[in-house]
Amino acid sequence: MRVVVSHLYHDRDVFVRELLSNANDALEKVRLMALTNPSILKPAETLNVTVLADAESGRIVIRDSGVGMTKEQLASNLGTIARSGTSEFLEKLEKGDGGNLIGQFGLGFYSSFLVADRVTVASKTADEAEQWVFESEANAEGFRIIKDPRGATLGRGTEITLYLKPDARGDYLDVAKLRSLIQKHAEYNAAPIYLWSSTL
Ligand code: ADP
Ligand code: MG
Repeated sequence: MRVVVSHLYHDRDVFVRELLSNANDALEKVRLMALTNPSILKPAETLNVTVLADAESGRIVIRDSGVGMTKEQLASNLGTIARSGTSEFLEKLEKGDGGNLIGQFGLGFYSSFLVADRVTVASKTADEAEQWVFESEANAEGFRIIKDPRGATLGRGTEITLYLKPDARGDYLDVAKLRSLIQKHAEYNAAPIYLWSSTL
């Protein structure tokens, strides 16, 4: 993780693209599944993404009403870095070109750690009653998954909380900057993206 973060340090804006593209994928999955199983829409009928920039707590929260993940999916989808070949990945990283590598190697979600030192992912699928939280500080401890102490707040979907590193707060809690980064990627997203800020 340290190697990845240090190589990509100059390009940390990419976390916005990666997390919005994951939200978009998750919403697309709901849309497709709803064609054969309309009941999947019931727990959260509107398909959208909300980004909350909270300057007071130094956090960004990205919430989507997409498919969500079960406890097992949180572990298998988010718990493994560079699933598609860590050694190949590190080799290419040595040669430079970090920006293109992210995504290509399933590092998408891990780009969160470019700007955050702690990340939590709360998630709930339509089928299951329980909501789970994946937490990681990208250190040797790996990750933990616990039942969400807040209960099933999401209905269906995923909520990613980035606890921003002190040196990332100035850039990413600046609503104008965050808005322009979101706008750059919004054209690939079919669903609306709402930006909320505690400092508007
Ligand atoms: P990739 O998108 O290339 O598969 P990522 O690291 O971006 O790699 O994401 C890993 C996996 O985690 C995704 O394939 C998806 O299954 C799951 N995932 C990530 N974000 C979300 C989300 N917001 N909602 C549902 N599943 C997600
Ligand atoms: Mg992705």
